[in-house]
Amino acid sequence: MPAEKMESQRETLEFQAEVKQLLDIVINSLYTDREIFLRELISNAADALEKIRYKSITDKDITDPELPLEITIEVNDRDKTLTISDTGIGMTRDELVDNLGTIAHSGSKSFVQHLAETDRKDLNLIGQFGVGFYSAFMVAKKVRVLTRSYRPGAEGCEWVSDGVGSYSIGPAEGLRRGTSIILELKDDAAEFASVDNIKRIIKRYSNFVPFPIILGGEKVNTVQAIWARNKNEIKEEEYAEFYKFIANAYDEAIYRLHFSADAPIAINALLFVPGENLERFGFGKMEPGVSLYCRKVLIQQKAEGLLPDWLRFLKGVVDSEDIPINISRETMQDSTLVARLRKVITGRFLKFLGEQAKDDPGKYGEFWRKFGIFLKEGAASDHAYSKDIAPLLRFESSKSEPGQLISLDDYVERMKENQNSIYFINGPTREMIEAGPYLEAFRVRDLEVIYTHEPVDDFVLTHLGEYKGKKLVSADQAGVELPELENKDQLEGEGLDGLELRNLTAWIKQALGDRVSEVRESKRLVDSPAMLVNLNGAMTSSMQRIMQVVNKDLGNIYGKVLEINPRHRLIKGLAALRLKDEEFAKLAVEQIYDNAVIAAGLITDPQGMVDRMYRILERALGE
Ligand code: ADP
Ligand code: MG
Repeated sequence: MPAEKMESQRETLEFQAEVKQLLDIVINSLYTDREIFLRELISNAADALEKIRYKSITDKDITDPELPLEITIEVNDRDKTLTISDTGIGMTRDELVDNLGTIAHSGSKSFVQHLAETDRKDLNLIGQFGVGFYSAFMVAKKVRVLTRSYRPGAEGCEWVSDGVGSYSIGPAEGLRRGTSIILELKDDAAEFASVDNIKRIIKRYSNFVPFPIILGGEKVNTVQAIWARNKNEIKEEEYAEFYKFIANAYDEAIYRLHFSADAPIAINALLFVPGENLERFGFGKMEPGVSLYCRKVLIQQKAEGLLPDWLRFLKGVVDSEDIPINISRETMQDSTLVARLRKVITGRFLKFLGEQAKDDPGKYGEFWRKFGIFLKEGAASDHAYSKDIAPLLRFESSKSEPGQLISLDDYVERMKENQNSIYFINGPTREMIEAGPYLEAFRVRDLEVIYTHEPVDDFVLTHLGEYKGKKLVSADQAGVELPELENKDQLEGEGLDGLELRNLTAWIKQALGDRVSEVRESKRLVDSPAMLVNLNGAMTSSMQRIMQVVNKDLGNIYGKVLEINPRHRLIKGLAALRLKDEEFAKLAVEQIYDNAVIAAGLITDPQGMVDRMYRILERALGE
């Protein structure tokens, strides 16, 4: 093609807004760890090589099939340029626009948002959020990408940008299959034009890339599948390095599980629990992090469906020679072989966690605080595994020190002889639970109650239903059956009874109307005048708490039972007041009800309550 024609086919395109925002940060902030850009570009090159290796199994017709699969790095100290080339899958013009001009994934977008909003710009995470390519602009004032797709007949393309606002794209001739990224280094980044320095960086971050990395005609990395080696021969540092490599991470893994099995399916797996749970920081749902291999050939990176969704926090590799190498991504999810793999790996991993919890409870606690939410998700949503996850759950309880965690087994071991159920109660904090009315009946009977702080906990426990034959019961359920009190004196004092009590409950029900489904005598309350309990099968208070927040609606507490304590001074006083001054008694009942709503952790109309309090105070002071 004549030069003028090539020029006329060149177009300038704007980066998508999120990319502009990211590039602005990448170009204008100062970092100490700029060298990670090389890790990102090499990892993209390796991905492109994995893809062509996979394609060449199924597609017979690819461009330049004879090219060796490798990464070549060239350094030009005089011109201050650095070139990273691969013989991978390459990109077409449209792919260049999609891949290097836009960010599609919502998690990546929120990562950019987060970067824009914080002062501590931690670009180390850039690769984990699918925007690693742009890190090139940390060290380059201009980036050129020369690429030619593997597709037969695809033309070569050139992409050029200084990272400010736009890029240009045009045809390029004489390219072989693959991609070259040419960095024109910034004046203050000349150190990346040194062979020794580049070699050191490759050793540090990219040693496990499964293709040769060639620098100055020499292979610099160790190409090997660590998971396929004998456990006893692998050094701790090698594992640590491999974790950093496959997880794109810079921290240390909390746990590592390396195992192999022959039956019912041949597996070699190396799994890591990362040092941090990134979902905790609001970056949105993580993508799966375990890749599937067959005899060291990558079948699918970050394979969807290989593990249950709730194990998406795991990083690592599963290699199975029983998986057909040409299995397509679409059929993978419903493949029975993959289902068997999933079962074996999940079972093995849960067993491993159980062993870890036993061997080092402190460390397991650390794991639980970061990743427990995923196990809860599994226990609440995955029927196949909820029973196996149950012993791994941890909670605070009325018998644990604040901050100390117990298991359901700990609870069962401490259960009283005449106790048939495991009790739990949900509340935002330990203090709020302990100050509320729900624990009273358990406290006088010295029964342990599990404290749950997140609504998902109630889902989990309700979904489980029972543990080791003991029913799991929410302490705010109506009709909780409690063992007889040994020492009845603890429920001191004469209470209302008979007709007087019946009349009072009927009158309270009338006064509160639809707000409660029933008013009845409490067999449980000790110190408080009243409390709200949930009818069986009705929505729990913790669920309603979420509904109130989500719907911004305070009027949906309907349907609960109000239990009153017939021995409480207030309730006895109310019975007398009702006959003397019904209007004032009604005010008192409404206040008692509102207090019970608050004790249930629910929100009530604050203005109505304040007005009523003033009226009650006026009466109290006036008399
Ligand atoms: P990620 O690698 O997580 O997808 P990047 O920002 O590093 O995110 O890269 C974006 C995309 O650009 C890649 O997904 C890939 O499609 C494409 N890409 C980048 N480098 C190459 C390369 N060397 N060869 C082929 N495609 C590439
Ligand atoms: Mg990448």
